[in-house]
Amino acid sequence: AVIAVARERRAGETRVAATADTVKKLIAQGFEVVVEAGAGLTASVTDADYEAAGAKLEKTAKAAIGKADILFCVRGPEAAEIAALKPGAIVVGTLNPHQDKATLEALAKAKVSAFAMEFVPRITRAQVMDVLSSQANLAGYRAVIEAAETFGKALPMMMTAAGTVAAAKVFVMGVGVAGLQAIATARRLGAVVTATDVRPATKEQVESLGAKFLAVEDEEFKNAQTAGGYAKEMSPEYQAKQAELVSGHIAKQDIVITTALIPGRPAPRLVSAAQVASMKPGSVLIDLAVEQGGNVEGARLSEIVETGGVKIVGYANLPGRIATDASALYSRNLMAFAGLFLTKEGAFAPDFEEEILKAALVTKDGAVVHPALLNK
Ligand code: NAD
Repeated sequence: AVIAVARERRAGETRVAATADTVKKLIAQGFEVVVEAGAGLTASVTDADYEAAGAKLEKTAKAAIGKADILFCVRGPEAAEIAALKPGAIVVGTLNPHQDKATLEALAKAKVSAFAMEFVPRITRAQVMDVLSSQANLAGYRAVIEAAETFGKALPMMMTAAGTVAAAKVFVMGVGVAGLQAIATARRLGAVVTATDVRPATKEQVESLGAKFLAVEDEEFKNAQTAGGYAKEMSPEYQAKQAELVSGHIAKQDIVITTALIPGRPAPRLVSAAQVASMKPGSVLIDLAVEQGGNVEGARLSEIVETGGVKIVGYANLPGRIATDASALYSRNLMAFAGLFLTKEGAFAPDFEEEILKAALVTKDGAVVHPALLNK
C-alpha cells in the first residue's frame, strides 16, 4: 500500500507527518511512501533525506495524494487535497473532530475512511500511538521556554557580586501531560513551582516533581476523575471555591501556565480578568488552552495581549514551535498506528473492527460514523 505525505497547508503548521527515520521503517514494513517535495523543510527534513530513506518525491500535493491508499497528515487536509484522494482511501491525522465539522463532512463526502488520532484510546497497547501525549509533552516544555522568553527577568535565583536575583514563581494550572512537563522544565530552570488540578491523582505527581500542590480538596474533587483518566467539568460552586483559593496565590506569581482541558468541551475558565489585573507588571501568563476557548480571560488566539503591564501569551500550536522533535514523535505515533493496517503476515488489510481502529474511525462509506460525533 502507498502512504502519501504532503506539505501541511494549515496556517502556521510547521510539523510533518513522516520523517526520514519513519519512512525507512514504513518501507521495511512493506509500505511504499510518496512525499510532496518540500514537505519536511519546516521540520528540518530535506527532500534528499526522504529520498535517501527510500521515499519517492512528487512535485505537487495533488500528484502525491492521488497515489495514496493512506494519507498521513498532521492536521486535516483542505478541500483541494481531499479532492485529490481516491474514494476509499484512508486519512490519518489530528482532525480536531469535535471542532472542525467542515473537514469531517468533506472527508465523509469524498468516501474516505478517516482516523482521528485524538480518539486513539489510552490503553497500554496504544501508548506508542498517543499523539496527544507526545505533542502535549513538548507543548508543556515549550510553554516554559516561551514564558522565559517573554518574562523580563531570570527564572533561577542567582547570587552575584552585584546582588541577588530572586527565583521566579511559576504556577501551573492543569497537570496533565503538558502541565507535568511544564513543572519539570520550570524546576530545571530553577523556578519555585506550584501547581493545581481537579484530579486528586495529580497531587502526588506534582509533589514528586518537587513542586507544591494547591487545590480545594472537597468531595467533588475526590470524584473529579473519569474512568478514562480525564477531568470532569466541575460545578460552578467548586469553580468559585477554587477561584477564591487561587486568587491570592496568582497575585504573587511571576508566571502562570494554564493547560486545563476537558475532552469535547470548551476549556474551563481558570483565571479571570480581575486575577490578571492583580498580577505585578512584568508577569506573564501562557494559555495553552487558547485554541479550545482559553483558560485565561482576555487571552487571544495567536496574540500576546498586554494589560496593565501583564502579558497574556495565546500562541496556537506550541508543538509547531518545536517542529523537529514534534514531527519526529508524531511520525513515530503514526507509524505505529499504520502497523494496525497490516495482518500478522504483513499484508495490507485494515480490519475496521479492530479495537483501536474502531475507536479512532470518524468517517467511512460516505458518512460520519463516530458515536461521539453523532447527534451533535
Ligand atoms: P487534558 O489535556 O485533557 O487536560 C489537562 C489537565 O487539565 C488535566 O490534568 C485535567 O485534569 C486538568 N483540568 C481540567 N479541568 C480543570 C480545572 N477546572 N482546574 C484545573 N485543572 C483542570 O489531560 P491529559 O494531559 O490528556 O491527561 C489526562 C489523563 O490521561 C491524565 O491522567 C494522564 O496521566 C492520562 N494519560 C494516560 C495515558 C495512557 O494511559 N496511555 C496517556 C496520556 C495521559
